[in-house]
Amino acid sequence: MDNHIVLKQLTVSFTTKAGTVKAANRIDAIFPGGQISGIVGETGSGKSVLGLSVLGLLPENRIVSGSILYKNRDLLQLPEPEMNALRGKTIAFVPQNPDTALNPSMTVGAQLSEMFTCHAKASPAEAHLRALEQLRRYALPESQIGFDRYSFQLSGGQRQRLLCAMGNALEPEWLIADEPTKGLDAVLRRQVFQLFQTLRETSNLGILLITHDLRLAERLCDTIFVLYAGTVVEQGPAGELFAGPLHPYTRGLINAQPHKALMPLPGMPPSLIDLPAGCKFGPRCRQRTKLCSQEPPLRNVYGRQVRCWQYD
Ligand code: SF4
Repeated sequence: MDNHIVLKQLTVSFTTKAGTVKAANRIDAIFPGGQISGIVGETGSGKSVLGLSVLGLLPENRIVSGSILYKNRDLLQLPEPEMNALRGKTIAFVPQNPDTALNPSMTVGAQLSEMFTCHAKASPAEAHLRALEQLRRYALPESQIGFDRYSFQLSGGQRQRLLCAMGNALEPEWLIADEPTKGLDAVLRRQVFQLFQTLRETSNLGILLITHDLRLAERLCDTIFVLYAGTVVEQGPAGELFAGPLHPYTRGLINAQPHKALMPLPGMPPSLIDLPAGCKFGPRCRQRTKLCSQEPPLRNVYGRQVRCWQYD
């Protein structure tokens, strides 16, 4: 349990002019250190909010309760200087969009070197060498020419690898990767998969993989958390969950994939400002019964956690 990240009743909402956005509702989860935990669900299910909560990067208009425990400390209660010290060094982040996350006015080498001079107190010469080594490890052009390139001169896959190289530069214990394959074509998605597979095989890094890419999650993750409307609706070992999904939403997500039945889920996710009463998936569920007008609890079903009255 030493380097697990443990969420206890994590609840996150945002006050907006349109109303209160309930992005995460009483989420309990254990993300084991040294393993890959996948958080999957449609856009707007609250996936990214979990990652940003762990990193303490939620916007100002947040209202947060519950706890996020890591090494006997509640990250939600850490003063900002301590949280700042933790970010990057201990828990690193690979954000969703390389184009906005990378600085177009700095060379690749300068951005990487800065990680070492600012956070590891390396001299400029040492930082230069370590940056070159990172470029090599992440299969980026590691020569001086590659070092002096700008991020906009790299391909989409290279930019994604550069983000991972920066995220892992300080050899953190955890990496939170938010939609690492979003917007990439099949070839680049495969490169990202290989990168994470290598990370898993060559390090003891814990990874929280936030993705709508179910194939990536299935092939990489040890454990899967399926999120719908800010709640966990199913959680379990990746192999079992993909081989036999229990929750109707998980089944729908899997069947909507192009290499499966390609049957789109009916309807749209609910507004997080105006959530339906009872089961949040009810308005889209073909198995809905009268009982579903009440909110189902998360219960243990065949060693998995499932939130559905079908398993009452
Ligand atoms: S609780 Fe009812 S509405 Fe919700 S997923 Fe299960 S069967 Fe469908």
